[in-house]
Amino acid sequence: MADVLILGGGPAGAVLARRLTALGHEVALVSCARRPAVEGLSVRAVEGLRRAGCAEAVATVGALAMRSVDWNGRRTGLNGEHLVDRPVLDAALLRDAATGGATVIHAAVARVEPMGDGWRAVDDEGATLGAGRFLVEARGRRAPNAPARETGPRSLAVSRSYQGRPGPAGSAALSFADGWGWLAALPDGRRVVQVITDGTEIPARADLTAWHAAAISTLPQAADWIAGCTPAGAAEARDATAIRRSAGLSADRLRIGDAAFAVDPLSGHGVYAAVAWAFAAAAAVNTLLTDRSALPLVERFVEERCTELFAQAAAAGNVFYRTEERWPDRPFWSRRAAWPPAPPPLPERGIRRRAVVVNDRIEERPVLVTPALPRGVLAVEGIELWPLLATAKERPDQGGDLAEQWGRRLGQPPDRVAVALAWLARNGFLPGGTSHLAP
Ligand SMILES: Cc1cc2nc3c(=O)[nH]c(=O)nc-3n(C[C@H](O)[C@H](O)[C@H](O)COP(=O)(O)OP(=O)(O)OC[C@H]3O[C@@H](n4cnc5c(N)ncnc54)[C@H](O)[C@@H]3O)c2cc1C
Repeated sequence: MADVLILGGGPAGAVLARRLTALGHEVALVSCARRPAVEGLSVRAVEGLRRAGCAEAVATVGALAMRSVDWNGRRTGLNGEHLVDRPVLDAALLRDAATGGATVIHAAVARVEPMGDGWRAVDDEGATLGAGRFLVEARGRRAPNAPARETGPRSLAVSRSYQGRPGPAGSAALSFADGWGWLAALPDGRRVVQVITDGTEIPARADLTAWHAAAISTLPQAADWIAGCTPAGAAEARDATAIRRSAGLSADRLRIGDAAFAVDPLSGHGVYAAVAWAFAAAAAVNTLLTDRSALPLVERFVEERCTELFAQAAAAGNVFYRTEERWPDRPFWSRRAAWPPAPPPLPERGIRRRAVVVNDRIEERPVLVTPALPRGVLAVEGIELWPLLATAKERPDQGGDLAEQWGRRLGQPPDRVAVALAWLARNGFLPGGTSHLAP
C-alpha cells in the first residue's frame, strides 16, 4: 500500500504527486484520459508547473500567444496566454509524476473503498487499481460531488473545434448580450470557438451543435475566426459554474483542485489555482502523514487557503464582468455583476497567529497582516518577520548599522535582514511607518 493514493492526474493531482514524492512519500496516482479541450494558461500557471518540476508538461505549452479582447465596445490587446491541448498536457503531467517517483496507473476509477488502514480505488469490475493510507480526490469537476459551500451563477461552456490552415497561435475574448466567447487558434491549424452562456437554459445534448452554430451566426468575429475552416466533430458542453465545495479533509482524506473548488473560466485562474492548491495540499498531507494530532491546525489551514484562492478567482472574474456595461439588464450580465457579494472588510494592520507552511509542514506562527496583504506575511527574504520585530521591541536600536546588529542577534545575513527591515518600515511596523510594534 502506498502512503498516498491520488485519484486524477490533472494539474492538481500531478503536481501534488511530484511534491509528495520529493518529500519521500510513496505515491500511487490513478488517472484516465480526459476529453479533448484547448485552454489558455496564464504565465503564473506555467511558472507553477515549472516550479513543481513538471518539465514535460511545460514543454507541451505553446509560446505566449497574443490575445485580443473585444469587451464593452472596445478592442484591446490584453496580456497573452499559453495555449495548450489539454489531453497532451495531461499526458505529459502523468509522465512528470512518474519521473518524480510516483507509480502511475492509467485507468478509470469506478469506486473507492476502505481497505485495512487506508483506501483502494477499483475499476468497474471491482479490480483494485491502487491503494494508499491517505486518499486524495483530484478528479476535477468529474469527482463525486461534495456539498457546495458557495456557488456562482450557473454557467455552461459550449465549444467546437475546426481545422484550418497552420498559422500563428492566438486567442480572443469577446462579449455579447447573453454571454462571452473565447476563440483560440493553434499553430497546427486547429481553431476553437467556445461560447459561455447562462446555464439556466441548457440546450439538449443532441441540439448543442445547432445551438453553437446559431450563436456563432450572431457573432461576426467568431464567424471570421473560422472562415474557411472545416468543423472537426460536434459541439461539446462543459459545466463552467464557479463552485466551492468542502475540501473534505479528515485525518486520511482530502479533495484538491477543481474537486474542491472550480472557478469561472473568465478569471483565467483555473490551472493556476489548481497548481497553487496542490502546493499547499502537499504541506497539509505531509503534516498529517507524520502527525495526525495536527488535524485541527491543518483543517484551519485548508479552509483558509481554499476560501482565499476561490475568493481571489471570483473577484478577478467579477472585475471583468463589471467592465462590460452595455447590457446591465440582461440576466447573464446582471447575475455576474452581483456575484460574488461584497468581500469581507479588509483587516487592519497587525499581527495574527495563522496556520502557515514552514518547511513543507503546517505550523502556527505569528504573521504580519496589512489591508493589502490580508493573508499575512511570515517571512521576507527567508527572514521571519515576527522574531525580527520582537528583537526590535526588546532591544531598541543602540545606533550603528541596524541590519548588522539584528542580523548578528538573529544569526542571519545582514543583507537579507536589511530587506526584511525595509519591508517592516514600508508597511508601517517600524518607526518611520504608521504603526506601533506591539501585537
Ligand atoms: C469550459 C472551461 C474552460 C476552462 N478554460 C481554462 C483556461 O483557459 N485556463 C485555465 O487556467 N483554466 C481553465 N479552466 C479550468 C481548468 O480546466 C481547471 O481549473 C483545472 O484543469 C483543474 O485542474 P484539476 O487537476 O483539479 O482537474 P482536471 O484538470 O479536471 O483533472 C482531473 C483529472 O482526473 C481525471 N479523471 C476524471 N475522472 C476520473 C476517473 N473516474 N478515474 C481516473 N481519472 C479520472 C481526468 O481525466 C483528469 O486527467 C476551464 C474550465 C472550464 C470548465
